[in-house]
Amino acid sequence: MRISDELVINELSQEVYDVAVDHGFHNPGGSGLDGDAIFLLALHGELSSYWEKLRKGVAVSPLNPNIIEIAKQKAILTNRLITLKPPIREGGELVDVGRMARFIVNLIGEASELWEATSENKLDQLCDKEHCDLSCEEEELADLAIRLMDLATARRVNLGRAIRIKSEYNKTRPFMHGKKA
Ligand SMILES: [Mg+2]
Repeated sequence: MRISDELVINELSQEVYDVAVDHGFHNPGGSGLDGDAIFLLALHGELSSYWEKLRKGVAVSPLNPNIIEIAKQKAILTNRLITLKPPIREGGELVDVGRMARFIVNLIGEASELWEATSENKLDQLCDKEHCDLSCEEEELADLAIRLMDLATARRVNLGRAIRIKSEYNKTRPFMHGKKA
């Protein structure tokens, strides 16, 4: 990747963010759903760490059936921790953890919609939006990219630079990064 590619990614990200602002997705004050988002992310976290163990070939017993209770406890701990010691970004800016949780749970939601289209054999079907000439697969992949770019811009992260550097780093990693999937 070249530096000019970084700029293209960042310009697109800014445009995506501006559209989200115009449509009310960056209202100050939150939605009242932060606690739910934090709980759902704790639940996703448990599922993801199970998958990560499978990817690494670490023998795992079946998924813990108490996963909902474990996630509830982790969400309580997270809420307690951020109340006692709220994260502060370099430069003194307070990180809005609830807002971050909403961003991430929305991102996961788009990935789930992609899976739903796959599981219902609808990847190549036209998406259900009027005047939108995209297949379900194209639409959900675009949604994922748009959510990601919006988050990066909202957090003032240089996404183009990060992708370039991480992509270069990935070239140096072993086959399948040493994992099974
Ligand atoms: Mg979608």
